Amino acid sequence: MDKIYLDNAATTALSPEVIDAMVDVMKINYGNPSSIHSIGQEAKALIEKVRRDAANYLKVTPAEIIFTSCGTESNNMILKSCVHHLGVQRIITSPLEHKCVAESTLELKKLFGVEVVYLRPNKKGDIDLNQLEEALSKSDKKTLVSLMHANNEIGNLLDIEKTAEICKKHNALFHSDTVQSIAHLDLDFSKIHLDFASCSAHKFHGPKGSGFAFVRKSSGLKGIITGGPQERSLRAGTENVVGIVGLGKAMEIAMDNLETYKTHIQDVKNYTISKLKKSIPGIKFNGRSAEEDRSLYTVLSALLPYKDPMIGLKLDMEGIAISQGSACSSGASKPSMVMMMVLGEEEMENGTPLRISFCHTTTKGEINHFVDILEKISASHQIEKINS
Ligand code: PLP
Repeated sequence: MDKIYLDNAATTALSPEVIDAMVDVMKINYGNPSSIHSIGQEAKALIEKVRRDAANYLKVTPAEIIFTSCGTESNNMILKSCVHHLGVQRIITSPLEHKCVAESTLELKKLFGVEVVYLRPNKKGDIDLNQLEEALSKSDKKTLVSLMHANNEIGNLLDIEKTAEICKKHNALFHSDTVQSIAHLDLDFSKIHLDFASCSAHKFHGPKGSGFAFVRKSSGLKGIITGGPQERSLRAGTENVVGIVGLGKAMEIAMDNLETYKTHIQDVKNYTISKLKKSIPGIKFNGRSAEEDRSLYTVLSALLPYKDPMIGLKLDMEGIAISQGSACSSGASKPSMVMMMVLGEEEMENGTPLRISFCHTTTKGEINHFVDILEKISASHQIEKINS
């Protein structure tokens, strides 16, 4: 059997159409988009088309889409520029954020004395918006709220509409890390009053090294990479034309097929949940990940009822690619902050988290094979337990 890829929250395979679009650019459109001659201007036109399309999908203006190298860069730029250029003195965030937000926030605290307030999620990983209101009404300091839309480890969804309303009411800036949700959910930023968001093409079958930041024009954000006037001076550097075109093609395919993909993936996810429940007694699901209306349909976080730090390697040897948590922390010996938040001490001690993440090409046949293998591994743990 071919390898089974269940790590789509870490990254996705490139679509063949995306590869074709990028190869065409590599062969033909080698011009520098800042050059005034026609070869340069043709490359520029390709970038501007992707900008217009992305803006259309999100219902914003093209000037509010700033191409970057990835989600990490977009989030860094937004958080750091808010402090450097917009006078933000306080950041309200949560311990569930991706490392690129968490580390940027800590750096801003250490280097610039920015006050950082962490909202405490409950054991399901929910953010309590009353806590947010309370924190916002406690201080007059210029504040940025940074809360992710869809969690990359447990799939929990934040009510961004309501969060944005609360931030607006309290005159706070609102940034949401939307890396896992853009091109997977239909987002209308003309109705959601957030100021900043981030996107990464490799989460939806586009290339790595290509993303964008959504920067609401009225926010007045400036860039942190200085140099030429590219990206309206918000992100200097010759544009990655190939990557941007790849992002555009991937986003076009994702948005054109959004409902079809979503229906298929949700069906596969529900099937996985019921198969796992039947085959692995005692399995649990973390956060809201098994709840259809409260989690992203591409992510399922399970807790196996035994300790097995080698689970990823064992599955890999059987041809199944899967992570225990986020790709950035899965190589680390320490459990991730997200897992520490949603699991009790006993569960951490006696259980093994496993993140199963799907895409539109994942089949039930693949899930059957994966669950069969997992069942065998689980049975060996059962025998070990009985013998000990
Ligand atoms: N934010 C979230 C929620 C993510 O899942 C990731 C990637 O795993 C990132 C940010 C970083 O994106 P990139 O890999 O494009 O730097």
